[in-house]
Amino acid sequence: MAIKEKNYWLETVTIPVGDSSPLPESVDVAIVGSGVTGLSAAIALAKRGARVAVLEAETLGWGASSRNGGMVLTGMKLPVPTLIARYGREKVQRMYAASIASIDCVEQIVREEKIDCDFSRCGHLEVACKQTHFDGYAEAAELVAREFNHNLRIVPKSELRSEIGSPIYYGGLVDEVSAGLNPARYVAGLALTAKRHGAALFDHARVDSVQRESSNGAQKFRVRTAKGSLLARDVLLASGAYTTKATPVLRKKIIPIGSYIIATEVLKEDLARELSPCNRMIYDSKHFLYYYRLTPDRSMLFGGRAAFFPETENTVRQSAEILRRGMIIVYPQLRDAKVEFVWGGTLDFAFDVMPHTGRLDGMYYSVGYAGHGVAIGTYLGTKLAAIICGDPNDIPFDGIPFPNPPIGLRSGHTWALPLAGAYYKFLDWVS
Ligand SMILES: Cc1cc2nc3c(=O)[nH]c(=O)nc-3n(C[C@H](O)[C@H](O)[C@H](O)COP(=O)(O)OP(=O)(O)OC[C@H]3O[C@@H](n4cnc5c(N)ncnc54)[C@H](O)[C@@H]3O)c2cc1C
Repeated sequence: MAIKEKNYWLETVTIPVGDSSPLPESVDVAIVGSGVTGLSAAIALAKRGARVAVLEAETLGWGASSRNGGMVLTGMKLPVPTLIARYGREKVQRMYAASIASIDCVEQIVREEKIDCDFSRCGHLEVACKQTHFDGYAEAAELVAREFNHNLRIVPKSELRSEIGSPIYYGGLVDEVSAGLNPARYVAGLALTAKRHGAALFDHARVDSVQRESSNGAQKFRVRTAKGSLLARDVLLASGAYTTKATPVLRKKIIPIGSYIIATEVLKEDLARELSPCNRMIYDSKHFLYYYRLTPDRSMLFGGRAAFFPETENTVRQSAEILRRGMIIVYPQLRDAKVEFVWGGTLDFAFDVMPHTGRLDGMYYSVGYAGHGVAIGTYLGTKLAAIICGDPNDIPFDGIPFPNPPIGLRSGHTWALPLAGAYYKFLDWVS
């Protein structure tokens, strides 16, 4: 059977369609993008009585939010010492606390709104690709315990079989607080929840421009879309890696990086248990990393940055074989397992590899999750909604410097991305 070039998760759910009514003339808040950020904001805003329109260029949840690995992860991409050197201890303590709170935020929404998305607190496992990486785990765990009162468990190589059925790693680090879910069912559930609370959701409503306009003496935003235009008091840009020329002020901040996933046929129960005895969300210690997990129906889902470019038909096709080879190195037991699905998506990186929220040209935004967006995107969308409603701003990522990437890495000008990819491969080789 040929590999299906499509997102496995979309086989497990029907994505809700948007409203068929015309766009309202005016709303309190227009949200650009219907991923976890936009929809969690829409839910929180609608619950507080705001008139909200979510404007999505494609189908609801079409972007990274329905295509990801479904790993609901604690922590941030950068090492803690780097973060403390950059932002100071107090700020980083608040950032780390936000990363933990973001898992609770996902769990709370899933439970309260009864979203059937296989959410489970299965924990995550980071595996060391080199002895030096494993040697760093003890110090990292000690630092996280001291600074953030959060426990990580070190797993030496001799005990690694209890966590992963792979011979190639030097040890691991477990965080029991992280979780897993089915991302397409999650984002579909968020859309249905937002609708139920009164938000209007429009699919195939690509935003073409956002301009200031004064209306009855108040400064508002004229938002023009493929389905007509509306006037909004506030705009929230939740367009992630897919941010378009309609909002160039945000687009130039984003480095769009491709990430690709394969999914195997359903595995026998004993094989699945051997590969991942605790059913963790797993990723390795490289820059150019692999991430993988079992799906609820026991397929192995194996992802990585097989190509650095944002996804195209070509990069998706090439990734299938690159990732299959990677998977077999990790798990020789899967040599004969059929790969049934391959798909790709685009990650939103900021140049400083940090999440960022704030306002640009008066519009709110939340981006820069760097492959860690399921939890923090939900949390920041919810938080920004509260801020738009007038609550104090306690987001630790808000207002930190937000550097522009060099031109060759920016959305629309990504000619230097392969160089960056080669650089990170080099780092993986030497460090
Ligand atoms: C392959 C892959 C694997 C990943 N794995 C994980 C993982 O396991 N765990 C994790 O935490 N994170 C993971 N991520 C990252 C995570 O999926 C994202 O950080 C997160 O989903 C971003 O959510 P978002 O709502 O900000 O943006 P998105 O979900 O990307 O949504 C943005 C939406 O905005 C729309 N849009 C853009 N411009 C316009 C416009 N002008 N008008 C209207 N609509 C517009 C797009 O169509 C898109 O649907 C992964 C990402 C990918 C691609």
